[in-house]
Amino acid sequence: MNAIVLLGAPGAGKGTAAERIRTETDYKHISTGDMLREAVKAHTPVGTQAEAYMKRGELVPDSIMVCLVEERLSRGVASDKYMFDGFPRTIEQAKLLDAVLGKLNAKVDYVFYLDAPRELLLSRLTGRRICRSCGANYHVVNIPPKKAGVCDACGGELYQRSDDTEATIGTRLEVFKEQTKSLIEYYSQRGVLVRVDAAQHRDLTLKEILGRLKSAG
Ligand code: AMP
Repeated sequence: MNAIVLLGAPGAGKGTAAERIRTETDYKHISTGDMLREAVKAHTPVGTQAEAYMKRGELVPDSIMVCLVEERLSRGVASDKYMFDGFPRTIEQAKLLDAVLGKLNAKVDYVFYLDAPRELLLSRLTGRRICRSCGANYHVVNIPPKKAGVCDACGGELYQRSDDTEATIGTRLEVFKEQTKSLIEYYSQRGVLVRVDAAQHRDLTLKEILGRLKSAG
């Protein structure tokens, strides 16, 4: 089992990069944000517990997150390759991920840190739209759909995430700065951190990541 992590503030482009890496490689995409949104929609016990934290833009407690990820990995097989998007977000989660992967004889091979300035993150988040059916990402200015409000890929309805509002975005960026940024140091010390300029065009960000993955075999 191989594992890579996409690390970056909300709006850095983790989801967009992950979708394209998924189509061009055999990495499976694990987005804890998507898993939680599905759990909320389905009114599962995890969803019910997570909903209030998500609405406020705060992190869902580590205990819930680790169960969610452990359960997902337990359904995999030894040859699987995983790409984590939005996980880990705390040092505690990173340690628990190491432990879970260790049990499966695996480790985090690369952590791609998608770095972009705050102003850009804000404009990306406020303009972000997502397809309700297939999950494809759009932006009203940067990646507009051919027809407003309609997904180019599947014709599904585009919506704005309820936590992509100015008030919640502020909290989410603060949480990133205070809790998630310490992971950069954590992974840098392990020699697996690769900083990627996420302010450049998404094609270039993707090219850098794929280049690194291919050179590593
Ligand atoms: P995302 O889609 O990654 O921006 O996540 C949306 C929201 O889900 C976050 O603001 C958190 O409330 C929650 N969430 C997602 N992943 C995690 C995680 N690894 N740890 C804690 N909360 C998370």
